[in-house]
Amino acid sequence: MRKSVVAIVGRPNVGKSTIFNRLVGERISIVEDIPGVTRDRIYSQAEWLTKTFNVIDTGGIEIGDEPLLIQMRQQAEVAIDEADVIIFMLNGKEGITAADEEVAKLLFKSNKPVVLAVNKIDNPEMRDEIYEYYSLGFGQPFPISGAHGLGLGDLLDEVVKHFPQEELEEIDEETIYFSLIGRPNVGKSSLVNALLNEERVIVSEIEGTTRDAIDTKLHKDDQDYVIIDTAGMRKRGKVYEATEKYSVLRALRAIERSDVVLVLIDAETGIREQDKKIAGYAHDAGRAIVIVVNKWDTVEANEKSMKEFEEKVRAHFQFLDYAPVVFLSAKTKKRLHTLLPSVKVASENHAKRIPTNVLNDVIMDAIAMNPTPTVKGRRLKVLYATQVAVKPPSFVVFVNEPELMHFSYQRFLENKIRDAFGFVGTPIKIFARKRQ
Ligand code: GDP
Ligand code: GDP
Repeated sequence: MRKSVVAIVGRPNVGKSTIFNRLVGERISIVEDIPGVTRDRIYSQAEWLTKTFNVIDTGGIEIGDEPLLIQMRQQAEVAIDEADVIIFMLNGKEGITAADEEVAKLLFKSNKPVVLAVNKIDNPEMRDEIYEYYSLGFGQPFPISGAHGLGLGDLLDEVVKHFPQEELEEIDEETIYFSLIGRPNVGKSSLVNALLNEERVIVSEIEGTTRDAIDTKLHKDDQDYVIIDTAGMRKRGKVYEATEKYSVLRALRAIERSDVVLVLIDAETGIREQDKKIAGYAHDAGRAIVIVVNKWDTVEANEKSMKEFEEKVRAHFQFLDYAPVVFLSAKTKKRLHTLLPSVKVASENHAKRIPTNVLNDVIMDAIAMNPTPTVKGRRLKVLYATQVAVKPPSFVVFVNEPELMHFSYQRFLENKIRDAFGFVGTPIKIFARKRQ
């Protein structure tokens, strides 16, 4: 099911990021604990009552050094393009400014649901001052205080009222959904085109899957795939679409809908810091991953060069040690045929279930080989393990004391599970739970 998207629009300093952080709560900081992975604070998941939705802080998408009015116009356009509901935020201490009126006009024309939030109403006496905001034409203004967390409940009640009827995106379990992410110019659109023009591939477009995104369905070797449209692939020509933060936003939205994410690297320019960041998003999301080294035609290829490049990839992307690396050229189509089979394997592993008895045989053998650690005289006891989820495969190991499960021992168990069952291309998760 597609999640609704809420965008926050407003002048600088009205309190957008303060509210964004309140809405997404601790989620982001949890994610940041994963080494080597960073996340931009512009797009994240939030919850209200029983609803889960995504929030965009359009203020986080810096659009060059444009004058305020132009920046605000572009932020409003991002919100109009991406969101189901827009929170238009004003500064209750300053009243309505010319820039606010300009934005109001744009939002009004868009016909998207707009909910007015008047921020910095830090005490109840100030609530009387919000009536002037009715003049913007969006109905009732909601007084809030981001600093003190006041009024957010009423605001969110109003926001969720405008969510579209639950749109059931038709997801076919037999179909593999994948997306391509990577820096501008790594060859994402070239690779999509190369795949679509491959021999024995049958192609059909699925229009308007989410707003203006166009997904493409393809059939090869008895398998259906859907390529999810990502930023930079359909170049549309608005100014903000060229900004890095915006392409990150589009990539995050594509990753969310994917089973498998292809992380593209440019063999010609080599690995850059930004590649690592982009790959981190896919890893965080728990998707299956295939690393694709494109433009392999530009490298004098032999057995050794491939091995050397793979070593570099491994050194830079240590957190993706499970992802296979595919070398190809979208331009010459050399080795292109190796891609979809890797995507398929990664997808199958992502959805794989291990029967409990087989899993426990492996765990018990592992423990026999490398006994559980002791901490201050207390020994970790592993009682049994079971797989609790797929996509990605997630395992719970029941133990006497979860604190005794040291990271390195957990890593050892993960490696044993991988040795036994493969799981190439997918992250796996292991949780220790207490059981007497
Ligand atoms: P943004 O530029 O719209 O993202 O605004 P920020 O969230 O960065 O906030 C700008 C400033 O306003 C910061 O100094 C915040 O601490 C302050 N601020 C945010 N919310 C409130 C509020 O409810 N009351 C008051 N008094 N200050 C606030
Ligand atoms: P995107 O921005 O990631 O979608 O990248 P494009 O597909 O637009 O490609 C960027 C540039 O790289 C274009 O000039 C392509 O012709 C070129 N390119 C893409 N794939 C290859 C490849 O495999 N080999 C070479 N030599 N050039 C490529």
